[in-house]
Amino acid sequence: MNLKPTLLLFAILSAPAVLWADEEAKPQITTQDLGSGIHVLLGDGGNVALSSGADGNFLVDDKWARQSEAILAAVEQIGKGAVRFVINTHWHADHTGGNENLANAGAVIVAHDNVRKRMSSDQFIEALQWAVPPSPAAALPVVTFGEGLTLHLNGNEVQVIHVAHAHTDGDALVYFKQANILHMGDIYFHGSYPFIDLSSGGSIQGMIAAVEHGLVIADEHTTVIPGHGPVTDRAGLAAYHELLLSWRDAVKAHKDAGKSLQETISAKPTAATDETLGVGFIKPEKLVQFIYESL
Ligand SMILES: [Zn+2]
Repeated sequence: MNLKPTLLLFAILSAPAVLWADEEAKPQITTQDLGSGIHVLLGDGGNVALSSGADGNFLVDDKWARQSEAILAAVEQIGKGAVRFVINTHWHADHTGGNENLANAGAVIVAHDNVRKRMSSDQFIEALQWAVPPSPAAALPVVTFGEGLTLHLNGNEVQVIHVAHAHTDGDALVYFKQANILHMGDIYFHGSYPFIDLSSGGSIQGMIAAVEHGLVIADEHTTVIPGHGPVTDRAGLAAYHELLLSWRDAVKAHKDAGKSLQETISAKPTAATDETLGVGFIKPEKLVQFIYESL
């Protein structure tokens, strides 16, 4: 989830008409060709993977509802034809916001059991003080899984792998085996501090374990798609892993020494990266809080 404050306000007000009318809140999405018939759709909302080929089109995530038009235009340009499946990496609205529009256009939505559960009921994201009402029935995943499932499409074994209690309690990594492309969802924020949604069952321990799972899947030739930020590779993911460990250890040292959350925040345990990575959606004090409250 990567909400700008203005978008967050609109979301709180539940005013889709305002969102649709607000051209500033609807920046262009850009596409990047990753080869093997797979493109990533970057910008505004979570990164989307589009696979196109002999078996048609399918997506990993579908950004905000306001981007559905642009997503479908990209599909039309790149792959022609309809979207058969959308795999959601987790329930947040910047990754599932297009579900209703895509389902109405004929796509089958696939996600972890907990994605459907959370989208079916009132949610409150504590870190953002954001109340999220239940989604319309058409937006809900109709195929759900516990540990994972595999799709066999466009010459790829597409492995959808649940990772427990990481960014949320319903995260999935998506690995295109033959293409050697790994979509990490919001397990991986590339170039900014990560959001860990504790009120949705996330934890720093789970984030680290999920990244380690990704590192086991990936090899030196793997293309890695983060949930937010530019596309990278295994080395990029490994560098992020090191950062997560260093932040976890720094916060843990303060907590183990009996410091309160406020004292830990004041001590600036993540100071080394605050000015490079802590200036976006998640500020240093939030990251410290996520980690402190996970431990
Ligand atoms: Zn998210």
